Amino acid sequence: MSGEGQGSGPARPSAEGVAAADLIRALAALEREAEEAIPAAATPDELEAIRVRLLGRREGRITAILRRLGELPPGERPAVGALANRVKAAATALLEARAAELAAGAREVAGEDLTLPGRARWIGAAHPVTQVIEEVCAVFRALGFTRVRGPEAETEWYNFVALNTPLDHPAADMQDTFYLADGILLRSHTSPVQIRTMLAHRPPIRVVVPGMCYRRDPFDASHAPAFEQIEGLVVDEGITFVDFKAPLAEFARRFFGPRTATRFRPSYFPFTEPSAEVDVSCPLCGGAGCRTCKGTGWMEIMGAGMVHPAVFENVGYDPERYTGFAFGMGPARIAMARYGIPDIRLLYEADARFLEQFA
Ligand SMILES: [Zn+2]
Repeated sequence: MSGEGQGSGPARPSAEGVAAADLIRALAALEREAEEAIPAAATPDELEAIRVRLLGRREGRITAILRRLGELPPGERPAVGALANRVKAAATALLEARAAELAAGAREVAGEDLTLPGRARWIGAAHPVTQVIEEVCAVFRALGFTRVRGPEAETEWYNFVALNTPLDHPAADMQDTFYLADGILLRSHTSPVQIRTMLAHRPPIRVVVPGMCYRRDPFDASHAPAFEQIEGLVVDEGITFVDFKAPLAEFARRFFGPRTATRFRPSYFPFTEPSAEVDVSCPLCGGAGCRTCKGTGWMEIMGAGMVHPAVFENVGYDPERYTGFAFGMGPARIAMARYGIPDIRLLYEADARFLEQFA
């Protein structure tokens, strides 16, 4: 860059109004700027940007002042010129010192260039359905429920017969599932774990059962042939319909928010009597009506009911002595409602761009 400056352009008459005082003030400001900005440069790129801004051949601000010296009256040129050259030299020295520091810093960590931009690290996270399952189970754990599991391959007896659903029952047909071998199938719900739990333990029983279930459903926007379910079962002496409603309403308040209302609509399941569909006031609109709740203000979250006496007989419990309730919900549907996911298939595609939104 030497050789620029004073000699680079024809001298213009000082009548154009360049005042030595203005240039001196500008040089002082540039000197302060160089002293602050250059040592603070964090990368060689930043440092180079500062160099161009101050000393660049075309746009550099110190360069520009040097260029205008010729416009000053001849008597004022030496003093301003000397100042300009001193500021230029100081800035150049600072630039070189900082460049050396940055280079040394980069060398210090065995071959690693710390001045390179970082590589964003992949942040893993639980799948949104897994998050819902964990939260649901945590709420029920606080309400005294134990988490249990059961096999995904079941016999017809556990999956249907023991649950008061004979194989010629319409419900067995409705839940037409995947058979692995004669009489062995992929469970169509988590309810067989109710049977396994009751056979293995005596009351009181208070369990939640998350797990995969399989049905011969089309794979469309709202159905999947493989899906998660969470089942619950309570059995003890003297369990009444009030004991049934209260924890489910409490679950809804803890999971969806303290102002959540709950309603029970009559329904039918072969293994409960009476049976109910449980709705909660829509957590998105608070019951006012929105797209997610289709304008109703309510969202169906589970099927439930008092355990059918025939189920107790199938596991050797005395239905005159014991009563209980059971419920089942689909965490995928809850995740869809919570996050406004329009298509259940998105939950199965394992597309990191979709999933990382829930990290
Ligand atoms: Zn709504």
